[in-house]
Amino acid sequence: LTILGLESSCDDTAAAVVRQVNDGPPAILSSIIMGQSNLHASYGGVVPEIAARAHAERLDLCVIRALEEAGVTLAEVDAVAVTAGPGLIGGVISGVMCAKGIAIGAGLPLVGVNHLAGHALTPRLTDGAHYPYLMLLVSGGHCQFLIARGVDDFSRLGGTIDDAPGEAFDKTARLLGLPQPGGPSVEQAATAGDPRRFAFPRPLLDRPGCDMSFSGLKTALLRARDAVMADKGGLTRADRADLCAGFQAAVVDVLAEKTRRALGLYLAEDPAQPLLAVAGGVAANTAIRAGLETVCADLGVAFTAPPLALCTDNAAMIAYAGLERFRAGLVDDMTLAARPRWPLDTTSPALLGSGK
Ligand code: ATP
Ligand code: FE
Repeated sequence: LTILGLESSCDDTAAAVVRQVNDGPPAILSSIIMGQSNLHASYGGVVPEIAARAHAERLDLCVIRALEEAGVTLAEVDAVAVTAGPGLIGGVISGVMCAKGIAIGAGLPLVGVNHLAGHALTPRLTDGAHYPYLMLLVSGGHCQFLIARGVDDFSRLGGTIDDAPGEAFDKTARLLGLPQPGGPSVEQAATAGDPRRFAFPRPLLDRPGCDMSFSGLKTALLRARDAVMADKGGLTRADRADLCAGFQAAVVDVLAEKTRRALGLYLAEDPAQPLLAVAGGVAANTAIRAGLETVCADLGVAFTAPPLALCTDNAAMIAYAGLERFRAGLVDDMTLAARPRWPLDTTSPALLGSGK
């Protein structure tokens, strides 16, 4: 099977071709990503209208390049898969419309894919992960634990009740005058810091369950920063390093402890090959990975983190999720709707219709 995938739910316009021959390992024949950060940089965040327009202008070029690089023509493609949500609705509509055009023009089946399912199925694309596995999706916009049982079968065990960790890293960087994206710059600054100098909270650790909260951490950081500034009139490099180290240590502790609980629930189901997989940009953080690996080693669970290029937004994951859906007979028609919200533990777009 050869699947063309399209992704346009945030600020990356992406197209990819993924092929799987029978039960062999899936191969990414091409994965083109056209970022837009330069278009949004001066606004301090993604502007939905600018993003939608840029997607509409670039999707066709992106598809042409993906086909060229893969060395396949549309005649050799079996289906076109597209992110149908959740995300910035203008961008999602651009992608869905482009995919419908290709499907009609080339006479191909259309497969709507949940963006989060794309992230959640990535360990099957990269590592051949067996169902059921536990997924921690931790990015700029999301933080949740999912048990992946099948292409259309996910159970959410819990997640953030406010900010995502990536967002908290980005805000921390902004508060300390470090460059964006905040994750890498905070991680870098933290290497020289003392995580014990500032006592940051570990929100929700005292409560049962797998839910998390990161907005209080951001407020605590702001207070600690202001206290140092009031005291000394400014921040030294060492102050910044200590603030970053303290913040990062709190995030690691929260993620590690909640992962321990999520693994407990998952292991209670007695999976044959227990596996924790992480995805999302925050999974790039070395301290976070180390914390998760320790918990996994304690509990005898394998750990995998896909390469960063496949952790952040891309179309290869959408093409692959589309491939699994297509194989399972989960094909959409021209009524496929773009959805701004679409929780992963509900059913396919066909059953949801076009309503909210
Ligand atoms: P989503 O895919 O959930 O809509 P997104 O596209 O913003 O959100 P990603 O592209 O997966 O998310 O990840 C980007 C986020 O990852 C940013 O918030 C960035 O700061 C964070 N990040 C990247 N590298 C690191 C790191 N080394 N440590 C911590 N956070 C990181
Ligand atoms: Fe994403």
